[in-house]
Amino acid sequence: MMLPHTADAAPHLGNSTADAAPRLGSSTAADAVPTALGASPHGASGSASSELGRVRPPRHLADLGEGDRAAWLADLGHRPFRARQLSHHYFANLTTDPAAMTDLPAALRAELAATVFPPLLRVAEERRTDRGATVKWLWRIAGGAGVESVLMGYPERVTLCVSCQAGCGMACPFCATGGLGLIRGLSAAEILEQVRLAQVVARRGELGIGPARVTNVVFMGMGEPMVNYQCVIASVRAIAAPPPAGFGLSARNITVSTCGIVPGMDRLAGEGLPVRLALSLHAPDDALRDELVPINRRYPVADVLDAARRYYSATGRRVSIEYAWIRDINDQEWRADLLAAELRRRGAGWVHVNPIGLNPVPGSKWTASRPHVEDRFAARLRASGIPTTIRETRGADIDGACGQLAAAESRDHG
Ligand code: SAH
Repeated sequence: MMLPHTADAAPHLGNSTADAAPRLGSSTAADAVPTALGASPHGASGSASSELGRVRPPRHLADLGEGDRAAWLADLGHRPFRARQLSHHYFANLTTDPAAMTDLPAALRAELAATVFPPLLRVAEERRTDRGATVKWLWRIAGGAGVESVLMGYPERVTLCVSCQAGCGMACPFCATGGLGLIRGLSAAEILEQVRLAQVVARRGELGIGPARVTNVVFMGMGEPMVNYQCVIASVRAIAAPPPAGFGLSARNITVSTCGIVPGMDRLAGEGLPVRLALSLHAPDDALRDELVPINRRYPVADVLDAARRYYSATGRRVSIEYAWIRDINDQEWRADLLAAELRRRGAGWVHVNPIGLNPVPGSKWTASRPHVEDRFAARLRASGIPTTIRETRGADIDGACGQLAAAESRDHG
């Protein structure tokens, strides 16, 4: 479907307070939704994408660590303690609406909120499925590129899947985002805004499961976290810091998913953050992984598995191996056996496997494996003592699964 091109057509999040309908600046929809969007995202390495990626977002309070926030307020000519008040509004009350900031002098509110909370994400599209328990947003960021988040409510947890880049440079051929090329990395605040806006929706009870709160954040939307490392880590710290410094989620409930950039994995292991690491392996042998995850040519299977094992040694967190089953490509029993052997060779209890059925990207030659083939693959892993949990796919019908949104955009505009 076409993306809305007018403000009125753009779906709003709930009612129309400043929080509910974020806008990029005060611009009209005509200039907030750039015409460049009409160009094919698949020309990502071409001019349309580089145009989209050229604009940087304005500085936002959430880009800064706690100490730097006070320094920024001082630079702006305000009392440093305003930083704590503003942080409380943002991270505890989840608001950027000056009308709600009654602890600030009335004369200051509007100007201060506009300066430290410039709107970063504008809702371009919102889709719901699973009786409202899955919500997918397409956000428009400064410069006009689109990024997605998917919020999934479960009885025991609420998981938000965030994007950390617009597009991605890793070029994995089974992933729709890979076809876009890298447009630009998101700022820490652009990542944190995804969390805040989803948290508002969860708190309001709009997830179909009553008032809830986001408990888990997974960096499994668009982008490769290790390529936007500093902003990803800054956002992780702010997601996990207790309010008013941050949103106060447990770092243990944050998952950083990587295609296997070894220096980034080692660096993350040294951050002292007990986040979960997921490694997108998809093949246990270099011959196939070179094709499915092209960065494998730089960081081959043995090296990424060694780095994953080091991550476990450093953090005590069991690593997740992601494996998207692709019919007749990576779903053979011998590959299950080879995967089990490679994992076992590095010890016991340090790893588990999270296979998922491929969400076929339109136009791709690949499709999902047959269910009995998946079951056999999982059974062989388990028989070798490898804990294996098949991941449920949510949101495929709203193009919310694994880079599917990017595919929808390119179908519309390509
Ligand atoms: N760049 C990170 C995050 C990517 S998205 C990474 O590579 O891990 C999170 C997961 O979704 C990755 O394991 C990715 O390989 C997987 N994925 C991408 N496209 C998919 C598809 N069409 N079907 C199933 N999984 C997919």
